[in-house]
Parts: sequence; C-alpha cells; structure tokens
Amino acid sequence: MVKVTSAVIIGIEAATIDVEVDIRAGLPGFEIVGLAGPAVKESRERIRSALKNSGFNYPLHKIVINLAPADIRKNGTLYDLPIALGILAGMGCIPIEQLQRYIVVGELSLDGKLRGVPGMICIAELAARHRKLLLIPEENGSEAAAVTDQSYAVKSLSLAYALLSNNTNIQPIMQSKFSPQQTKRTHHTIVKGQVIAKRMLTIAAAGHHHALLIGPPGTGKTLLAQSVHGLLPPLSTQEALETTKIYSCAGLLPPNSGLMTSRPIRTPHHNVTKAGLLGGGSPIRPGEVSLANNGVLILDELLEFQSDVLQGLREPLESQQIKIVRANERVTYPTKFLLIATTNACPCGYLGDPNHQCRCTQLEIRRYQKKLIGPLLDRIDLFTFLEPLTTEDYQQKQEPILAPVDVCHRNGLLPDEAIQAIQLAPDVQALLNKALQRLKLSGRGYYKTIRIAKTIAELDGQAEIQPQHVAEALRYRWEAAKILD
Ligand SMILES: [Zn+2]
Repeated sequence: MVKVTSAVIIGIEAATIDVEVDIRAGLPGFEIVGLAGPAVKESRERIRSALKNSGFNYPLHKIVINLAPADIRKNGTLYDLPIALGILAGMGCIPIEQLQRYIVVGELSLDGKLRGVPGMICIAELAARHRKLLLIPEENGSEAAAVTDQSYAVKSLSLAYALLSNNTNIQPIMQSKFSPQQTKRTHHTIVKGQVIAKRMLTIAAAGHHHALLIGPPGTGKTLLAQSVHGLLPPLSTQEALETTKIYSCAGLLPPNSGLMTSRPIRTPHHNVTKAGLLGGGSPIRPGEVSLANNGVLILDELLEFQSDVLQGLREPLESQQIKIVRANERVTYPTKFLLIATTNACPCGYLGDPNHQCRCTQLEIRRYQKKLIGPLLDRIDLFTFLEPLTTEDYQQKQEPILAPVDVCHRNGLLPDEAIQAIQLAPDVQALLNKALQRLKLSGRGYYKTIRIAKTIAELDGQAEIQPQHVAEALRYRWEAAKILD
C-alpha cells in the first residue's frame, strides 16, 4: 500500500488527507472509500485515460483508494493527481520516499495535462506549516508562491513523474512579493452637491461604520455608495491573504494569479437568494457577505431584498463572520465587509422629493419603512436623507474630497470593551446623556455614537472626542429617529 499526502478545504482552511492506494490481486476494478463526493468518484475515468495517454500501463488489478480520515467529506477533482501518482508508486514506477516529501493536489484531464484546483493558497499555507514540498498544477503556481517557496508547479502527469524520478530540472517557484494597489482616489466627484452624504460616507470609510442613504430617485445615491470603495486604504498583507483565500475557495480566482491586490466591492441584485448572499449550497460556497470581506458590500434598494435575506444579515453584521452548517459540513467564513445601503423612503420613491408628489398612503409608507426596523436598523450606524439636486448643485464646480481615511482606526470593528473604556470629558458626557434621553438611544446606540464620534475626532486630527464630534455623530443617528418615530 502507498500513502500520498493530499489536502481538503474546510471553509477557508486546508487540512491534510491521506490518499491510500492499494493494488491487490483480483479482478480488475477501481473503488474509492472515505466519504468521497461525486467529483471524486468520477476520478477513475480521468485517471485511467491520463495514465494511458501519458504512456503508462494501467494495472490490471483491483485498485482500492481510501481517503482518510473518513469523517471529513471530500469534494472536487484535486485527488486525481495524488491517486494517479499513488498508482504509479504502487507499480514501482516512482520511489515512494520521493513522493512522500510532497503534498500533492491537481485535476487531470484525459490527455494527462493538469488543471488548477480551488483553494490552492490555503493548501500552500498547510504545506508551509507542515514543512512539506508542494506538487501542484502549473496554473496554481503563482497562488502557491504567495505563501511558500517550496512549490513545484507542473503542466502534466508526465512532468510530475519526471520530477519524482529525478529526471528533470524543475525548480520551485520563487515566492512572489506582495505590492498592494493604491485605490484610485478620484471618488465623490461623479455626483455633484450632496455635501452631507459625502461627509457621512467619508466617516463610514474611515472608521468602518455601516451606512444607509435614503432618498428619492435621481439623487445619486447609488453612485455615491459605489464611490466609498475608492476611499478605503490599500489592503494589508494579512487582509490580502484572507481575501484571496475566500476567492480561491469560491473558485473565483483566475488561473495564474497570485494574491489579490485591491479591496473587493460586491453589489448583489435584490433578487439574490439567501444562499447567494450569506453562503451555502453543496458543496458549501462563500456568499456575497464573505466575498465582500475586507471590502464594500453595496445593497442598492435595500427594502427590495427579501425579508428573510435581510434578516440573515444580522449574524454577519454582528459577529463579522458567518457559520454555515450542512449535513456533513460545518464551515465559518469571515464577513468583515463595510455595508453601504440605499433605499427610497416609500414604495413609489418620491417621499421627500419637493418636485414630485408621493402617491403612497401613510399605511404603505409605514409598512415599507417597518421592514428596516428591528434587526437591521440598529446594526446600521450612519443615516442620511438625500434631496434631489438643485440647479445650483449642477452649476457647482467640482471639488474632489480627498479624505485622509488611513489616519483612522477601524472603530466600527473595535470590541465593545474598548469603546466602553474610553474616558469622556465632562461636557462630552453631558451632551451624550442629553441625547440618550431625547433620542431614546439604546445602549447599543449610545456606544455606537461614541464609536462614530471617535472616528470623526480622528479625521479631525484630535486625540480626544470633543462635543462637536458627538454632535456630528448624533446628526447621522437623528436621521434614523425620523423613521423610527
Ligand atoms: Zn411614495
């Protein structure tokens, strides 16, 4: 029996899998055991054809493959290469001790060429952790090189065989250097006017505070929401790694690409399913909330989304991660996205527009706005109502607002204890106490106000929160009260 080390992806982490290949006397056959999904079961035909078309003999014996440990579900085509090489080692064609230095993954095509597999960056991390070499398809080479300089990326089964038989001079791929892309800072210039909304979105981007833009059509709220992406600072190496892992595991990383260099922006349509937004399916895939991790999630026309889909946002907004449980699988994906949402204030859209008559009844308006109240409203930090642009706005000369958002902490992501520990000046405390009563702020709303005020103070270059910072923070909370009342 030959044992080849391979890998399995659980969420965005990889774990080792032993591929045990046993070639026995008996009627020719091929059997895979060990909780293998359909794509793994189909590997037989690919492996047989690839071996034959690469000039090897396929053994006329009974072949039994065991994928261990048996309690983890294995999906995908990544076991083609380790099984094929295990068979070759079992027939004495390659030295077993050579094969055992590697973690091996790769899909085989019928002609023996190798195809890339999802999740390679996670597998490369695993290999680095276990101090193993990596034998992988060429398409995955750049991705693996982002984390290890011990990966051998080859085009075909024949080349993998040549490497293991010391018949070739293949070198490991040089580890690539990460250079984050500076996001283009030509934001906010696409929409004229809307000074308060722009200021609010700058605060949102600077401190990671979720924001909602409310207003009639034609106010530029969608464009404004999209402009937030350009305000965000470049990815850190750690963030780039995490973001790349998610895209790689979702199968969304193009072949021959290394680490992702800019923050993601996702704009799912309001028809998106719960699984599409939150993650799910079989095998489990990350949803939009995770694809937007370390970036921006834009929900345009928030109230057009299905209620249960919106309800599902509660967990990722609250804990910055989402747990998905299926029959044999349980995975956790990070969801540190910045939510920027837009909505009309009523079903017809024209509530608050001085140029159009709103055609909705009071009841319709209340029912519409009620969809927001409850789970979502207290998880959004900043609100503003937009008014249609005036002639003056259109004639205004454009001044791009280049906000120094990098100077701020991501106060929206700080744990509650860190916010509770902030010592406030007496005048700041007095203002907050007054607001607590007048706005009927919840405990959550109270600390949220401090978080936002902290970001505003930092944007101002101040070490301590001043009364004007709290006043501005309250302004964006006030707007929510208009809906709640
Ligand atoms: Zn209306």
